Amino acid sequence: MPTYSYRCPVCGPFDLVRSMAEVTAAEPCPDCGRDGGRIWGAPALRGMDSGLRRALDDGERSADRPDVVSAVPGRSRRATPVTRDPRHAMLPRP
Ligand SMILES: [Zn+2]
Repeated sequence: MPTYSYRCPVCGPFDLVRSMAEVTAAEPCPDCGRDGGRIWGAPALRGMDSGLRRALDDGERSADRPDVVSAVPGRSRRATPVTRDPRHAMLPRP
């Protein structure tokens, strides 16, 4: 039988094994009893490319615990490519 994931608003995600005929949109949380909504996910993650699986895991993790940044992302001088071609000096500057 497949495993279905739900998310309790208080306790977080939990998994339940149900037959496809018994699956519902919400199930009571095994810890607190509140209704947890079903989480829709991609099946058969084992055969997936590791990079894609990592990206999906990061996306799921950031939904609950987004990364905290200490500065506004922007252009850094290091990221700007430097060219030594003299023809590039004639290009218009922003
Ligand atoms: Zn709960």
